[in-house]
Amino acid sequence: MTYAYDDTNIFAMILRGEIPNSTVVETDHSLAFRDIHPQAPVHILLIPKGKYVTIDDFAANAGPEEAADFWATFASVIESEGLREKGFRVISNAGEHGLQEVPHFHLHILGGHAMGPILAR
Ligand code: 5GP
Repeated sequence: MTYAYDDTNIFAMILRGEIPNSTVVETDHSLAFRDIHPQAPVHILLIPKGKYVTIDDFAANAGPEEAADFWATFASVIESEGLREKGFRVISNAGEHGLQEVPHFHLHILGGHAMGPILAR
């Protein structure tokens, strides 16, 4: 399955250095940075540098090095932000029903207080 990637999305611009970001961790294949509109005391976005639209695109098509790097970066963010002891929430919105705004795969890593119910409509 191929996914149509839009090079004009805002995270592609961040990766090209066209707009600034508040970087938490950067590796060869991944970037973690603070969400511009945080929904919790800690709200970090973790993205692969590769052109993946959604989490299922990444799951199906990322190479082993990219995938390993992504999850190692995830673990490093949890550690460096002190999220392991009290816990955290991870969200990945995908597509229309997921209300995904930015069509470049990202994990929202949320923590720093109790998150409340998982869904609200
Ligand atoms: P989505 O709805 O696609 O899962 O979430 C996109 C997220 O990207 C939102 O939480 C939004 O606040 C964040 N965001 C949008 N534009 C920017 C930006 O220019 N910089 C940063 N750091 N975050 C952004």
